[in-house]
Amino acid sequence: ASAFNANVATAKALNAFIVETPDSALAAADAADAARAAGDLKPLSGVPIGMKDLFCTQGVQTTAASHMLEGFVPTYESTVSGKLWAAGAGMLGKLNLDQFAMGSSNETSYYGNVISPWRRNDGGNAALAPGGSSGGSSSAIAARLCPAATGTDTGGSIRQPAAFTGISGIKPTYGRCSRWGIVAFASSLDQAGPMARTVRDNALLLEVMAGFDPKDSTSLDLAVPQWEANLSSDLRGKTVGIPREYRPDGLNAEIAALWDQGIAWLKDAGATVVDVSLPHTKYALPTYYIIAPAEASSNLARYDGVRYGQRDLPDGAGLQDMYAATRAAGFGPEVKRRIMIGTYVLSAGFYDAYYTQAQKVRALIARDFEQAFEQCDLLLTPTAPSAAFTLGEKQADPLAMYLNDVFTVPASLAGLPAMSVPGGLDAAGLPLGLQIIGKALDEQTVLNAGLAIE
Ligand code: GLN
Repeated sequence: ASAFNANVATAKALNAFIVETPDSALAAADAADAARAAGDLKPLSGVPIGMKDLFCTQGVQTTAASHMLEGFVPTYESTVSGKLWAAGAGMLGKLNLDQFAMGSSNETSYYGNVISPWRRNDGGNAALAPGGSSGGSSSAIAARLCPAATGTDTGGSIRQPAAFTGISGIKPTYGRCSRWGIVAFASSLDQAGPMARTVRDNALLLEVMAGFDPKDSTSLDLAVPQWEANLSSDLRGKTVGIPREYRPDGLNAEIAALWDQGIAWLKDAGATVVDVSLPHTKYALPTYYIIAPAEASSNLARYDGVRYGQRDLPDGAGLQDMYAATRAAGFGPEVKRRIMIGTYVLSAGFYDAYYTQAQKVRALIARDFEQAFEQCDLLLTPTAPSAAFTLGEKQADPLAMYLNDVFTVPASLAGLPAMSVPGGLDAAGLPLGLQIIGKALDEQTVLNAGLAIE
């Protein structure tokens, strides 16, 4: 009982959950007992899962960590969460995140910061960011509050929080997991994926979450491979590319050393290592921060005070006043910043200069990867340019925050599968992650390389 109480205290202190749903988890545990007795266990029977509060869950409030959707109780279940329940899992609760998944530290949530369970070992006892936007997911898993959770990744939101908290997470190829029922941020980039402590757990979860869905027009109509059964850390015959543009002058020395260590591990597993070039890498961050806000400004137009959640209707107000009052109160500062950038780059005089140009550069970035993959089967890079930073440290400087995504956004723009696995600890005892990027649809090689590293 005392251990349980300690867990409850930790859960509250970390602020990882927005809503707790223990009854759902307990019902799944009971169902698992019955299934075991009947010899009918499912792949995830009884496994309690944390659900990022971006997935619509029938009958359970879904907020996207915004005031705008406070009190919104969907009448439908997202395809991905529905697949998890059908496989026997139960929901522990809805996990905190950056508001509408916009952020890299979980500090843009309307429901407050999430705290990482990690602390520096060099005396600095300040609370650390769990990464973002899936910061509730990463913190809860790292603190052993749940064995697994869902994440979504638009520009790094599965991989960077996994790296900051010493866990693993994979963003599959764009289209592998249905986006139906997931609150949309940037539709051409958003992908769901699992986060868990081990690569094997990720493979098992992804197998359940992936699959064709006629309700998502970008869902891939392909069979889901048996990733877990085919896991192997034997990389003989595989070639690993090391993209030189990911080693800028001034790369943190500990990150560079970890990367070299990762290269050595993959060589030990039998892989051959080659240098490759992704020449347009330096344009990835600005390209992402045009395309993602552009799509967000369009997706978030639906929150008008009429259809969902919040409505602010000042006395005697007309329709326009209601829109303005609702949106002023319902969205946080980062969401407003993205909507303003997005509407600007999509506006008549600037569309070609920004949005069209960004789409062209996106195609060049995708082509870089295609050319690199003529010489190799996977790429190894660091996941983030630093270990977890202190809460508040980058909050006043959006550009410093955006720079944290420098290594994760290129694979998002190209729609490629990418995973972060824990690589080791820095001098302050904080986890560092290694990123594996694969060819489109080749999650197996990504997972196998992850297994070789973990
Ligand atoms: N940090 C990135 C952003 O703020 C990525 C977020 C995400 O992947 N959802 O847009």
